[in-house]
Amino acid sequence: MRINVHAGHNPAGKAACGAVGIINESTEARRVKDEVLSQLRQLGHTVYDCTVDNGTGQKDVLNKIVSKCNAHAVDLDVSIHFNAGAKDEKGNGKTTGVEVLIYRASDITRTIGKRVADAVAALGYRLRSDKTSPEPGVKVNPRLAVLKNTKAPAMLIECCFVDDRDDVQLYDYRSMASAIVFGITGQRVQSAPETDRAEEGEETSTGDKNALYRVQVGAYGMKSNAEAMRKKLQKAGFDALIVQA
Ligand SMILES: [Zn+2]
Repeated sequence: MRINVHAGHNPAGKAACGAVGIINESTEARRVKDEVLSQLRQLGHTVYDCTVDNGTGQKDVLNKIVSKCNAHAVDLDVSIHFNAGAKDEKGNGKTTGVEVLIYRASDITRTIGKRVADAVAALGYRLRSDKTSPEPGVKVNPRLAVLKNTKAPAMLIECCFVDDRDDVQLYDYRSMASAIVFGITGQRVQSAPETDRAEEGEETSTGDKNALYRVQVGAYGMKSNAEAMRKKLQKAGFDALIVQA
């Protein structure tokens, strides 16, 4: 496939930089976007990063994103956002969840949007729907500029809520990106070839005797998130240890 991907909003700290809660929308949307692009590339898809870092305001950011998107002939435009408004900073044990916004229910974004929402929901997020929803977790919104003004079928993913402790605890940019990529392509990135060889016990590099070869899966601002990832790894049969840097 040929796919445009962009993170919503200007970078954190600039005008029109998105929602801020327990985590920061602009920052996390860029992390997820980079990982989505990288995984799509690894799977052999043609991708374009249409993120805008220098908009003068909300309208200008949107106009610049749309012209970047429309500069390429693609099968799909993907906009990565995080939602806000849950106001559950303490955590009530329930996520507020994921939604995928599409322009119309009559093109491929309905199917792909449903697959993306379901893949994110499989991580533990609630599917958000309303009366416009053709599928659980998918909403139709013909007014959003990045859906309305882009030439290719477009979807805007509100990954989860920045101001819901439950959403944030579950969140990790890699698993979010993997879910999105699976939703779009039906494919998952396999582990790196070197890891496979190492698991088979084969020497892959003579290396430097004094070097330290780290295998790291995540870095978190909140200890509870690190602990959740350690649990996940241990459940999957890996040894895991938390170090503070
Ligand atoms: Zn946003």
